[in-house]
Amino acid sequence: MALPLVAIVGRPNVGKSALFNRILGERRAIVDPMAGLTRDRLYAEADWRGRRFTIVDTAGLVLGKERDEVPAQRELRRRMEEQTGLAIEEADSILFVVDVREGLTPIDRDIADLLRRSRTPVLLVANKVDGRGREHLAAEFYELGLGDPLPMSAIHGTGGGELLDALVEGLPDSGPEPEDDTLAGRIAILGRPNVGKSSLVNALLGDERTLVTAVPGTTRDPIDTSLQVDGKRVVLVDTAGIRRPGLTRGVEQYSLLRGLRAMERSDVAMLVMDARDGITAQDRHIAGYVVEAGRGIVLVLNKWDLLTAEEKEEKVWRKRLRDAFDFAAWAPVAYVSAKTGQRVTQPLEVALEVVEERRRRVATPELNRWLRSVLAAREIPTRKGKRLNVLFVTQAESTTPTFVFFVNDPELVHFSYRRFLESQLRKQFGFRGTPVRLVFRRRGAERLE
Ligand code: GDP
Repeated sequence: MALPLVAIVGRPNVGKSALFNRILGERRAIVDPMAGLTRDRLYAEADWRGRRFTIVDTAGLVLGKERDEVPAQRELRRRMEEQTGLAIEEADSILFVVDVREGLTPIDRDIADLLRRSRTPVLLVANKVDGRGREHLAAEFYELGLGDPLPMSAIHGTGGGELLDALVEGLPDSGPEPEDDTLAGRIAILGRPNVGKSSLVNALLGDERTLVTAVPGTTRDPIDTSLQVDGKRVVLVDTAGIRRPGLTRGVEQYSLLRGLRAMERSDVAMLVMDARDGITAQDRHIAGYVVEAGRGIVLVLNKWDLLTAEEKEEKVWRKRLRDAFDFAAWAPVAYVSAKTGQRVTQPLEVALEVVEERRRRVATPELNRWLRSVLAAREIPTRKGKRLNVLFVTQAESTTPTFVFFVNDPELVHFSYRRFLESQLRKQFGFRGTPVRLVFRRRGAERLE
């Protein structure tokens, strides 16, 4: 089961992203550096007093919109409606942020109307209460009929503990996915609207090479589809959501948010793109979320039938993909046409290979033999007069392949050296299609001989 989802809504400039960052706290800092992708992160895992949940700033997930431009009032209203609808549809709990310095505005009232009509629990966050004795400023918001406004300063952090206590208290429990030994893998299908996700699913379900079997839903809806590919059973996560578009007014398409939720319940994501559009910034972002979540990824270029022979030049595509997905250079690619059925089962077959790669465990002696040869092949540059010393490596128990390196001083690990180690590791052991995590610990932090 996916973690409970907490959505942040509210009009622009009330402090949604400050609140998002405040809730994430230190977790933000431990994410691997991925050029340009962590910067505008709007979807991440958080925890408070041992309760884990996913947090999303829905403003950033309304697709195809530039966040920064200042919209006209009417457009703003429409976007708020869309954003709020998305939160109501998908979230287990909503944090509705208002700004005590600006006071109650008509858009706040609009959002509150939508929220009051839904059954999703809402916490009203009265933000920008900066300084003691100003809590009374929040009182004005009682009028919204959403319960007690919780005074808070996202910038200073005051009120954050109380807010998080109230939040996690109301969250549903989530457990791990039920174990299923007969299952080869769980696959999610992601992508912008109209790239052909539902066409691809339908092509797969109609292909004589795949055998469709019904699975009872394990979560709120009977939402997953079970397939046989080469005799292996695969679950396509939340295919019902893909095949049944336009669930609610305002949320016309299978939303990216819903796709990300499906991704959390899967081993590997297929990122479907429209080959005619090339690779868009949105495609890169989605891939970034997948990599950050530590899931495998297969890049799927759909609508291949619409390209001319010259446009199909694979060398050109390879370069394009390498440039756009430089943080996931290890991701396999499939060129397909959902319409003609050309190679439609290939992404699935590749995704299953990726599942296998993720399950690989390298024995510690073998890893250390590899480490010694790598250390011998290239001298580690010094940093501030000190030299990194890598002593020992071992693979940790984790669904995302994770390697723990014991070193004299983790601060001496330069980004480029980390990258070098990762590429050498992949060269030797594979792990195609999956992110790998490299963790550096100070020697003595643990005794492993
Ligand atoms: P979704 O929003 O990602 O689920 O996209 P749909 O599956 O609804 O497809 C959007 C449009 O693209 C529809 O009109 C499809 O018929 C069309 N389409 C999807 N895949 C292909 C393809 O491989 N080739 C062509 N020519 N059209 C496609």
